[in-house]
Amino acid sequence: MTLATLRDVLQPALCERCAVAGLVVLGWEDARAYVAAAEAVGCPVILQAGPGCRAHTPLPVLAAMFRTLAEGATVPVVAHLDHGYEADECRIAIDCGFTSVMFDGSKLALNENIKKTANIVNMAAAAGVSVEGEIGFVGYSGGVEGRGTTPAEARAFTEGTGVDAMAVSVGNVHLQMEQAAAINRDQLAQIEAVTNVPLVLHGGSGIPDSVRHDLALNSKVCKFNIGTELRQTFGKTLRAELNNDPEVFDRIKILSSVEPELKSRAEGILRNLQRN
Ligand SMILES: [Zn+2]
Repeated sequence: MTLATLRDVLQPALCERCAVAGLVVLGWEDARAYVAAAEAVGCPVILQAGPGCRAHTPLPVLAAMFRTLAEGATVPVVAHLDHGYEADECRIAIDCGFTSVMFDGSKLALNENIKKTANIVNMAAAAGVSVEGEIGFVGYSGGVEGRGTTPAEARAFTEGTGVDAMAVSVGNVHLQMEQAAAINRDQLAQIEAVTNVPLVLHGGSGIPDSVRHDLALNSKVCKFNIGTELRQTFGKTLRAELNNDPEVFDRIKILSSVEPELKSRAEGILRNLQRN
């Protein structure tokens, strides 16, 4: 049983100067491939269920899936709810067995975000569950523009909420299909100067591998959320597998054929966040 909370994996990462990947899960095959990848590297992994995933598969199913994988794993596995927008959503996730929830109050006014996030932290603490919050707003490629996190906001959020991890907006953008994000290191350094909370960068797919590696080793960024590049790997590999065998029709055979490539890409992502 290696089920872990976010705090369990991010505090050591903060001390040892490395980072953990929060990998966006959309189904059984990718979740299984990500845990296999973490075992191959020998590092923890955060399995994340975001809004798209939850719209497709009910939360209790996802919680059972993540916990089942964690129980059979040799490395710490975190069962994490990504972008919970309502307290109820976080509460249901905790009741289902998630060990970590993100409450995303980034669209709220600062005081409202702090108040609501602090309430989630209290509720989660009673269940031994970790909480990630967001301050500033991480925008979406081709969609809503982001708003950078200011050091003053980061300090107020840290002091007012007691979160285990804080997502910040420093040039990172969700859903980028190329590694085109320019991370503002000065802004990040100013935020780091006012908080000891492990930081999270959403939109990790858009951050160049070399920058991710450097940030993992030389900043308080301890969690990178990675979704788009793994979904791209899934789509490309699936298309190739279907083209290779026009007669294939069995769901298990089709989806299992994608796992080795997904595992390999996830291994690369996880290894890049380690010291060596
Ligand atoms: Zn996000």
